[in-house]
Amino acid sequence: MTEHVERDSMEVDVVIVGAGPSGLAAACRLMQQANEAEQELTVCVVEKGSEVGAHILSGAVFEPRALDELFPDWAERGAPLTTPAVRDELYLLRDAEKAQKLPNALVPKSMHNTGGQ
Ligand SMILES: Cc1cc2nc3c(=O)[nH]c(=O)nc-3n(C[C@H](O)[C@H](O)[C@H](O)COP(=O)(O)OP(=O)(O)OC[C@H]3O[C@@H](n4cnc5c(N)ncnc54)[C@H](O)[C@@H]3O)c2cc1C
Repeated sequence: MTEHVERDSMEVDVVIVGAGPSGLAAACRLMQQANEAEQELTVCVVEKGSEVGAHILSGAVFEPRALDELFPDWAERGAPLTTPAVRDELYLLRDAEKAQKLPNALVPKSMHNTGGQ
């Protein structure tokens, strides 16, 4: 016998699956555009984690270009980005933990370090 299950339902215009950076940016941008056009829009973001960010392991090194475009005033709004990254270095671990800095020739140009080699 099939059991009848009552399910909640909700009508929305857009459903976005996943509240990672992509999903959240898409939701924010859609709402910004709807506000600019003075149009009503309902966007629902569905996240399987217990809360937004629950699947994030730790802090991150953050390239803020997309955030600049989405929220040019993010700093004034108090976004918790407080330590600028001024240098990037890549190390190759070999012979049990001796670390050797990778020369720029082996590193993609966008990740070139500025220190000595
Ligand atoms: C260990 C590690 C370290 C990283 N460090 C950095 C860093 O320092 N700097 C940096 O810029 N990038 C870093 N990245 C990369 C960065 O995390 C990803 O580029 C970014 O998270 C991708 O965003 P996204 O929204 O596409 O996907 P995700 O962040 O993966 O978001 C997808 C979301 O969808 C949810 N989801 C999936 N399936 C479903 C479903 N069926 N129903 C509901 N919800 C669902 C997930 O729970 C998740 O929250 C790192 C990645 C890893 C793994």
